[in-house]
Formats: sequence, C-alpha cells, structure tokens
Amino acid sequence: MILIVGGAGYIGSHTNKALTESGYETIVLDNLSYGHKEAVKWGKFEQCDLKDIDALDKVFTKYDITAVMHFSSFIEVGESVENPEKYYTNNVVNTMNLLKVMLKHNVKKFIFSSTCATYGVPQKIPLVEDHPQNPINPYGRTKLMVEQILKDYDKAYGLKSVILRYFNASGADKSGEIGEAHNPESHLIPLILDAAIGKREDIKIFGTDYETEDGTCIRDYIHVTDLADAHILALKYLDEGNDSNEFNLGNGKGFSVREVIESVKKVTGRDFKVVETSRRPGDPAILIGSSQKAKEILKWDPQYVEIDKIVDSAWNWHKKLNKEYL
Ligand code: UDP
Repeated sequence: MILIVGGAGYIGSHTNKALTESGYETIVLDNLSYGHKEAVKWGKFEQCDLKDIDALDKVFTKYDITAVMHFSSFIEVGESVENPEKYYTNNVVNTMNLLKVMLKHNVKKFIFSSTCATYGVPQKIPLVEDHPQNPINPYGRTKLMVEQILKDYDKAYGLKSVILRYFNASGADKSGEIGEAHNPESHLIPLILDAAIGKREDIKIFGTDYETEDGTCIRDYIHVTDLADAHILALKYLDEGNDSNEFNLGNGKGFSVREVIESVKKVTGRDFKVVETSRRPGDPAILIGSSQKAKEILKWDPQYVEIDKIVDSAWNWHKKLNKEYL
C-alpha cells in the first residue's frame, strides 16, 4: 500500500485519485489542519499528526506500507519569513519524524514534494536540476534541507527517494470533484477567478516594472493532473530498483501575470478590475523549468501545455466551490 502524507490537500488528493485509478491501494494520512476530509475520496484515511511519532508508528504497524509520498508542508513564502519556526518545525522536523518511523519499519521508498524555490534567483533560464540551489526564503530552505537529509539517509540507510521540484501547480481534475482550496488563498489563478466571480473586488498585479515583455512576472504553470502522473512514474522508477534522483516538474513554458489574467477573462467570459501594485518581495522576474530529465528518464508526458486549458479546468472546479457567488 502507498501512504500519501498530506493526501487531503491539493496535489495529494489528485495523486490519490491517479494512484487508485492505476490500481494502487492507498492510505491518506493527514491532520486536516489545511487538508479537506471531503478531498479524501479514495483509499483509507488516518487522521494523524506528524508530530505524534507513536501514532505514526501505529499506522505503519496497521498497514503493509511499501512506499511513502510526502505532500504535507506549509507553502507560504511570506509566512515563512515572518514565522520561520512554524516552517522549520513542520517541514523539516516533522518530515524527520516520518523518515524515522519509515526506517524503523524498513520502508525505503520515498517521493518528496520539493519546489523550484530551492533554486533561489535563477542564473540561467530554463532552470535545470543541477542549477545551484540557493533559496532566498525559509520556505525554500526547509525544502532544500529535506533534500539534503534524503541524500544523507540514502548513503547511510539505503532510503531511496525521488525528489520532485514543482513549478507553479495549477488547475484541477477534469471531473470537477477535487481541486485547489487553500485558506487563505494566495495563488494567482484562484485569486483571479475570485475576482471574476466577484468574491474579491479586484486582482492586484504585484509589479509591472520587471524586465519581461509586458513588465509582469513570468511563471511556469504546471497542471496538477500532470504532477499526479509524475508521482506514479516516480514510484515505478523506484519499484524498478533505480537509484535516488531528482526531477523538475514544469510546463517548460512561461506565462506572465497579464497573460494569465487575459486567459481568465477569455475562459470565463467575465470582466473584472485589475489593479497594478508594487512588487511582492522575493519574486524573481522569470521562473521557467526544464523538465527534459523527467521526460527522458521517467517518460513523463505532461498533457496541459496551454494556459487556457489549465485555467479552464481551474474554472470548472472554482464554479462548483463557489456556487453562492454565481
Ligand atoms: N501574483 C500577483 N497577484 C496576486 C498573486 C500573485 O501578481 O494576487 C503574482 C506573483 O507575484 C507571481 C505570480 O503571480 O509572480 C505567481 O504567484 P503565486 O503566489 O501564484 O505563486 P508563486 O510563484 O509565488 O509560487
């Protein structure tokens, strides 16, 4: 069975669905602090906190777990600057608890949700996996620390891992039964959709003086279903006995904030107020990843390349989630 830690969250719930559809048995472990019980539509569910080593130990005793996917982390860059203790405790210490219990139970396959934020300010675009990693905020540093821990645990204990560095996860499952529901929301696409339905009075563009064609930041938006598929391929990769490895997961294509706003206007057929404001601290002008390595080694074949398709899937979900605004 595959243990999905944080499987009630955004990317974890999509991966749970994909694993189930591929014939795997899953157990979702989540403390529901940010995750949603309604998103656990497949497999078993254990409500458990990674702080609680004894409870974790019971879960590993109860089920025959062969591999672990770890999605549960705090992800707000700004909050990580204001409250680093929260981030180091959850993202690093709690992950070490999980690894400790895995090793005790001789579970040695681990798939880790990392981030392009571990690279810091890009020296060269597109970012490749061996680009220097100099994260510029505590969030990115917590993810890099776990990456380093995993490399040491592999050498010392033979724990095999696949590190997946996501770019901007976006969109929703095409069925509309699961999707993104962060509280508070801070991600660009759901925020623009909120403006489109009138839940928010406007969308603010953080900076229009970047060295990009239209002056706004460019990001690599990768669809959550494509991310989920990559996790299954990573699992197969480890099951085939391959060595630990790390992969970027991005679209390879960048879209500016203005382009994403235009896409939302087109897809939803709604107009809304756009306010130009100052830069958000810590935002590099352009983040685009090369996922060539995942395509070659994992045979990953992302399906959502066009921003309109990504936005359309997010819109489909957003409408269901916010019926009262429509
Ligand atoms: N952004 C924006 N207005 C918002 C939220 C985000 O202009 O209300 C910009 C942000 O500066 C970045 C891009 O949209 O350039 C994506 O931001 P998001 O927070 O979704 O993801 P991040 O790139 O921080 O992981």
